[in-house]
Amino acid sequence: MPNRRPREPIHLHRRDATDLAYDPGRVPLLDVVLGYDCNLSCAYCTIGEAMRRRALSTERVARAIDQAAARGVRDLAFTGGEPTIRDDLPALVRYARRRGFEHVKVASNGLRYAHAAYLDHLVACGVDRFHVSMHAVSDEDYEATVRRDGAAALRHAAIDHLVARGLDPVADLILEERTYREIRRWIEGLVTRGVRRFALWLVSLTDANALRAETLPRLVDLAPHLVDAFEAARRGGYEVTSLHVPRCFLPGHEDHVRHPGFEGVTVVTPDEVFDLSASRLGGGVKPAACAGCPWLERCPGLRADYVARHGDALPARRLDTAEEPAR
Ligand code: SF4
Repeated sequence: MPNRRPREPIHLHRRDATDLAYDPGRVPLLDVVLGYDCNLSCAYCTIGEAMRRRALSTERVARAIDQAAARGVRDLAFTGGEPTIRDDLPALVRYARRRGFEHVKVASNGLRYAHAAYLDHLVACGVDRFHVSMHAVSDEDYEATVRRDGAAALRHAAIDHLVARGLDPVADLILEERTYREIRRWIEGLVTRGVRRFALWLVSLTDANALRAETLPRLVDLAPHLVDAFEAARRGGYEVTSLHVPRCFLPGHEDHVRHPGFEGVTVVTPDEVFDLSASRLGGGVKPAACAGCPWLERCPGLRADYVARHGDALPARRLDTAEEPAR
């Protein structure tokens, strides 16, 4: 999902905190950005036209899998760009499974899953975790965002196929000015369709999306809507996880927060290999007000693009009175 969800460096997908797929104990993870090309052209995508021409070769991906397998890594994610437009994706999944990977995730806009035979083929090859980017609440907004007529119907079919097969997909939802006030309604609409897990990504202002600063909401405005969604999830028995929002904005709901950069994620892209903890979107800005915070060592702080837009003010609540982290 080209900026289907804010990319970490330019991608990174990601997950969480309950007994579901977001178990921090499953790390480390190899995250392979196969390439930056996509079958959509989302308005908020960070991937520009020049980037779309860059991709990893099949051989380079196989080598990364070999190297990670030798280090004992057992979780793999294929992301992009849109990984399902790669004809070699099924073969790469099979290869990873043969090399000992126990879990293979594909983070996708999901459109190709509208074709059930393709979805079944990926499952047969060994994909066991599906993340699908949703982009917008209504069908009208969705097609306006992804800029492809007919995509909304494919999105619906994809969700139906994933749910009908018991594949328990994770819906990746982008939080930006046009969506965050509707986050609870957005989630509850998907729950009625059988989706039970949600990851909330804060839109990023990097690369091709750098000039759309107005799309990034203030965290203090966003937080009450997240809390509302968390509380609805607890009552409803489904999972909602937030990324990129520091825990100090969500007191009492820290268990819904996840920072993938602290989970040992190695990212391989067409341009570089790096540890996610070094990602520019992993955070990095810890203002003086962080002193005394019980999460200080496990929080990446505020994202640099956020600070550039809204500053580094933190909530007034005193963190040094908060409960010590359990882990
Ligand atoms: S370390 Fe700083 S940004 Fe992170 S939760 Fe604590 S006060 Fe907030």
